[in-house]
Amino acid sequence: MRTMSSRADLLDTEAPSAPFSDGILGAAQVRAQHSGLLLRLLWQAREVSRADLSRSTGLSRSTISAIVADLLDTGLVHEARPGESRGGRKPILLAFNDDAYYLVGVDMGATHVSVVVTNLRAVTRSWATQSIAVRNQPEASLALITRLVDESLARLGADASQVLGIGVSVPSPVDPDRPGRLLPLILPKWRDYDIIEHLGARYDAPVFMDNDANVGALAEVWWGGRREGVDLAFIKVAMGIGAGFVIKGRIHRGRHGTAGEMGHTALDPNGPRCVCGLTGCLNTLVGSDALLARAKAGLVDAPNSLLKGRLTVDKLVDAALAGDPTAQEVIGFAGRTLGVGVANLLNLLAPDVVVLGGGLTRAGALLMKPLEETVSNMSLANAVGRTQIEVSQLGERGVALGAATMALEAALDDHTLFHSRGLATV
Ligand SMILES: [Zn+2]
Repeated sequence: MRTMSSRADLLDTEAPSAPFSDGILGAAQVRAQHSGLLLRLLWQAREVSRADLSRSTGLSRSTISAIVADLLDTGLVHEARPGESRGGRKPILLAFNDDAYYLVGVDMGATHVSVVVTNLRAVTRSWATQSIAVRNQPEASLALITRLVDESLARLGADASQVLGIGVSVPSPVDPDRPGRLLPLILPKWRDYDIIEHLGARYDAPVFMDNDANVGALAEVWWGGRREGVDLAFIKVAMGIGAGFVIKGRIHRGRHGTAGEMGHTALDPNGPRCVCGLTGCLNTLVGSDALLARAKAGLVDAPNSLLKGRLTVDKLVDAALAGDPTAQEVIGFAGRTLGVGVANLLNLLAPDVVVLGGGLTRAGALLMKPLEETVSNMSLANAVGRTQIEVSQLGERGVALGAATMALEAALDDHTLFHSRGLATV
């Protein structure tokens, strides 16, 4: 379930709630539902005539015309150009105004904060990213988020009233019962912080928050160029490994939002202890820290390696791509080990597509070839045969775009969010 700010909840309770037996409010409710339906159709179709809207909804031409007149007044829809004639007068095509509002997507990782500002079609208008030790610095991380959002809006000459909503992705499961909170087990220093409350108060806008792998999966489904209706698993390979599932068009969150905690599946019951308290979790083998430790150990036998000096995942990937044997061994190990995790995932879920994202995937075939070999050795033949395994094409902005998409999805599901941002009520 998406999570909503208290502001949006308040609006919900203020919305007309009288039963349909009340003639006046009943009609208003029906009209609001119709206008929401038309908005979503207009967004999906990009350009559509009133006659097409009437055909696809079954609503009368006069009802369509009345609602469209109101939508034109709001600025969310405009008359674009004459369309093809079907025998009579050329119809005027209506278009959704993608630039009527901004969406803000915040990607809060373990060691960075990134902020994307997009239009209502996920076209990036501003991008900013900065390193910070998020885990240990809640106060400074929240301050950095607001600074990056403020600076981005200032660059665009925009103010908060033009922001339709803010989506935040976090490196933690998000419990729908505690929607603004991070899991204290993983991020104890964030115990007293409610991110939704903080940003909602700062920007007076609806705020949505979810786990990074979940919003990564959402971004792949919306903007990854895939056919509608595919069951998709997104695996984020970063400080830790997380998976997000979109099944039948909806994110599968599981109980308390902890579905997809792939990094904490046990690969080696006798392995090292994980921050979660279990032993031999996938994260203890291929999380960033584990890989960098492995690279460091490899340097003992390779004094001339490109990996000398301060080690980072970026440096590891660059060295592997440049042909450094120590770096390539580490990436190959990561591929084989992640392959075990992906094979298990395929055997359990058998999605249509598995998409991998995160900094390590920049290694390309060096990572993916051993991964795919392991998968084909370890998962049922038919599961492999049907599942595509790909690297995300959305790049480093994917998760932030997915975060922004939460706000768009919410507004298209509930068009009163558009109205709450200053549009006349339809
Ligand atoms: Zn663990």
